[in-house]
Amino acid sequence: SYTFFNQLSSLIQIIMSSLRFKAVAEAFDRKVVPVEMPKESPEVYYADAVFNRQRMFEYLPKKTFDQLIDAIDNKRPISRELADSVAAGMKRWATDNGARHYTHWFHPLTGGTAEKHDSFIEHDGKGGVVEEFTGKLLVQQEPDASSFPNGGIRNTFEARGYSAWDISSPVFILNETLCIPTIFISYTGESLDFKTPLLRALNAVDKAAAEVARYFDPEVKHVMSYLGWEQEYFLVDASLFSARPDLVMTGRTLMGHESAKNQQLEDHYFGSIPQRVQAFMLDLEIECHKLGIPAHTRHNEVAPNQFELAPIFEETNLANDHNLLIMTLMDTVARKHNFRVLLHEKPFAGINGSGKHNNWSLGTDTGTLLFSPGKTPRENLRFMAFFANVMAAVYRHNGLLKASISSATNAHRLGANEAPPAIISIFTGSQIAEVLDRLEKSTDDDLITFAGKEGIDMGVAQIPEIMLDNTDRNRTSPFAFTGNRFEFRAVGSSANCASAMIALNAAVAEQLAEFKKRVDARVDREESLYHAILEEVKALIVECKPIHFDGNGYSDEWKEEAARRGLDCETSVPRIFDAYLRPESVEMFEKTGVFSKLELKARNEIKWETYTKKIQIESRVLGDLALNHIVPVATRYQSMLVDNLVKLKTLFPVAKGNALTARDLGTIENISEHLCAIKEETERMTNARKQANHLTCEREKAIAYHDNVVPAMERIRQHIDKLELMVDDEMWPLPKYREMLFIR
Ligand code: ADP
Ligand code: MG
Repeated sequence: SYTFFNQLSSLIQIIMSSLRFKAVAEAFDRKVVPVEMPKESPEVYYADAVFNRQRMFEYLPKKTFDQLIDAIDNKRPISRELADSVAAGMKRWATDNGARHYTHWFHPLTGGTAEKHDSFIEHDGKGGVVEEFTGKLLVQQEPDASSFPNGGIRNTFEARGYSAWDISSPVFILNETLCIPTIFISYTGESLDFKTPLLRALNAVDKAAAEVARYFDPEVKHVMSYLGWEQEYFLVDASLFSARPDLVMTGRTLMGHESAKNQQLEDHYFGSIPQRVQAFMLDLEIECHKLGIPAHTRHNEVAPNQFELAPIFEETNLANDHNLLIMTLMDTVARKHNFRVLLHEKPFAGINGSGKHNNWSLGTDTGTLLFSPGKTPRENLRFMAFFANVMAAVYRHNGLLKASISSATNAHRLGANEAPPAIISIFTGSQIAEVLDRLEKSTDDDLITFAGKEGIDMGVAQIPEIMLDNTDRNRTSPFAFTGNRFEFRAVGSSANCASAMIALNAAVAEQLAEFKKRVDARVDREESLYHAILEEVKALIVECKPIHFDGNGYSDEWKEEAARRGLDCETSVPRIFDAYLRPESVEMFEKTGVFSKLELKARNEIKWETYTKKIQIESRVLGDLALNHIVPVATRYQSMLVDNLVKLKTLFPVAKGNALTARDLGTIENISEHLCAIKEETERMTNARKQANHLTCEREKAIAYHDNVVPAMERIRQHIDKLELMVDDEMWPLPKYREMLFIR
């Protein structure tokens, strides 16, 4: 009966784990999905699905076209009459291109994008329907938005929200639907989305930066903020993905032992792209180009099965719309190629996480990039002025900038391996560092020389022609100057870039306005303009020293040093969010018109709530997997070992048997200990959750989840990962790291 029992139980085990093996086999057998190549070059089909200026010109009456362009370029509101005329042309273009529905496309605070589709049809009054689209429908809608998070704003004001067209971002067609980028606000004017405050921040930085830029070039009317994001992601075979409930539910593996090989050999970075992946990338690129997203660069990333996609930079608002759109597109296209795309910041422990570097710069409507060192002293002074002001803004608001990129998911990446530390500092590179140094040490005489005789001998204030050498790069810095832009690297791969861009642009706007005030005050005291600017730049350089760090951000010494310098070193995400409500943050956001205090409070409620929910879901999934997947399998394996042991004992004489079985006994004991610990810790985790759930204050609840639930999750994982190395591979129910990361 032993034999019978054993056979039966191993049969059950094979059935149990068959999902894993079926998935592995499927992944092995996959063929490359052929890509339907457009006959023409991208030059022909680029932006085909976008109602851009060219299409506007084609589909709108001349007068309407002119008025709309004027409104877009000069940020003027559009009249109802104009909206009607635009809507009619837009609808004609949309239906000509196969669209039957339209949607207001917005960015709620839950992350991602939201849409509610309506068909164009209206009653024609004769029992039939006509396809119609009016200016009113284009310009404003009232989605029943009561279930979007609003942090209590709508309860307070008993007001509904509405969405309104953002004319600075062109409408496009996706899945036979006309998508209209919109802002989403409450009736009392509070923003309920990411786009509204982003537009406000971009306005603020436009105004403040243009005023400073006019010191150097009176022709400047506007300053644009540019964003070039680099999206990192992982691909996992669709079958393997489906066999991992944790990936399905949370986007990351909550358990899984490192595979023997991961990224040690660094053979994946810039290696040749696997064929199936290349087909996916090509397909995605074609879709991007049709939607007017200038996808440009694609390559392998550091970790196995990790990749990156980057477009050519665009104005920040449009670039961000494109990033959100691409995150949706990636998912759709990946499925077509039997992949699933993982945008989570840390889907796999022990290897690199994914970020979304935000390359950011400011440029004038006269075509000058303000972070580009120039050739003449005047250009270089302008460069230094903008550079020093960015440093000052980042220094003053370093805690806030960290908060702007913090989330439950990004927490696994910051401060962890191969990722920026949870401290914001600026890397300048040695050439700029030298310039800063020389400027700081210059005497008043030098400054006067500089100010007085522009273009002759600039003495110490002269900035050498700065051609940043590409090797002078520091991959450990969360905020690095890279030649003509800053790279905010701490942004998470799943984040809406707007969060970081709002904080950064607003902080820089505040700083530039302050700078202007000080320079003007000096000029009023009859100082020469350039002398005044130099003096103020010098003062900023001295003040901002603590934020400048070119060393190794991963080192422990830096953490100590940063604390000594007074930089924000908080690592607990719920506490990091407090930075939004600090007086200096509230003041900055109010001064720049980006957020009211009420909005900030409401948004923080949502941040804490979202944090809690994310951890809560992960913790539930982990508890389920631990108790219902891992514990039963490990127990079964253990009882097989026990069976075996009993047989050995009957077969062999006592002395020899003892020697043979001692090691097995040890293994059995070891498994018992891990099993016990898993059960205990799971209970502890569940209790911690229960206790936290009783708290009514969202902040306290999030802190309780952070302090008590997260550590229990980590301990459970450790025990499970140990078991994975002990239990029979055939029985292990979940696809392993080596399977998910290397089969393609
Ligand atoms: P790397 O990986 O070396 O940082 P990539 O070429 O992958 O560089 O990405 C650089 C990104 O920065 C691209 O999106 C590029 O368009 C963008 N970029 C380049 N110059 C600027 C700029 N002045 N402002 C904003 N983004 C920029
Ligand atoms: Mg980069």
